[in-house]
Amino acid sequence: MAKTIAIVNQKGGVGKTTTCVNLAAALKEAGARVLVCDFDPQANATSGFGVDKTTASPNIYDVLINGADVKRAVVETPYGDVIPANKALAGATVEMIAIDKREYLLKNALDQLADKYDYILIDCPPSLELLTLDSLCAADTVMVPVQCEYYALEGLSDLLSTIRIVKRSLNPSIALEGVVLTMYDGRTNLSMQVAEEVKRHFPGQVYATVIPRNVRLAEAPSYGKPVTAYDSLSRGAEAYQELAREVMEKNKG
Ligand code: ADP
Ligand code: MG
Repeated sequence: MAKTIAIVNQKGGVGKTTTCVNLAAALKEAGARVLVCDFDPQANATSGFGVDKTTASPNIYDVLINGADVKRAVVETPYGDVIPANKALAGATVEMIAIDKREYLLKNALDQLADKYDYILIDCPPSLELLTLDSLCAADTVMVPVQCEYYALEGLSDLLSTIRIVKRSLNPSIALEGVVLTMYDGRTNLSMQVAEEVKRHFPGQVYATVIPRNVRLAEAPSYGKPVTAYDSLSRGAEAYQELAREVMEKNKG
């Protein structure tokens, strides 16, 4: 059965999608069966896998709102399988209001694929609203990318209290998978200070692997490839391979 991990932080630009795409590719490279569910209307994970978000059909919106078969929405790529999103997903929140058990729409879809994968990673939008709520109901655990910048911890208490509410009412088994420090710049005191502060806040839950700021990670999406395929020797590629090892080690057995 798949381990389903939602990649969540309601701040934009902290490295959620970069982590989702590159961790998925590195997990696949290490032999795991991996699916990414793009759940952000911006659909950056979809294009990060080289899938055209403007034509991919059916996509996750069609699955949730139009009753499309989730198995038909899966697109196989050399880097892992992906369920595409597109901007229609932004409107889904309103359409979902009329649907009974709307919090479980994504869960019901992904459960149908759970026996085909070892990991399902959900790339969440930058908010704590209905789409993210659905992700938290579909997930076993939550991975939180935290950017090594000022205000890194801002908003994380809201995220944690959202997870607690979900745990109490909608998904009792949800847990924190881990916190991953992103865009770390070892040349600055700021990055080091933020890393220390995050570790103090989340004792034992911050991955030893820290994702460095690396231009290859920023370039790779424009080639529709994860960094491991774009520049396998880059520091960014190495970091996500290391993170994949850490995630697999934590989840083995
Ligand atoms: P989010 O999904 O949280 O909004 P992204 O993963 O899209 O964040 O990252 C935001 C921007 O920062 C993107 O342009 C991405 O290419 C870039 N980026 C993310 N992680 C890194 C990194 N470790 N080094 C350099 N650029 C990065
Ligand atoms: Mg994103």
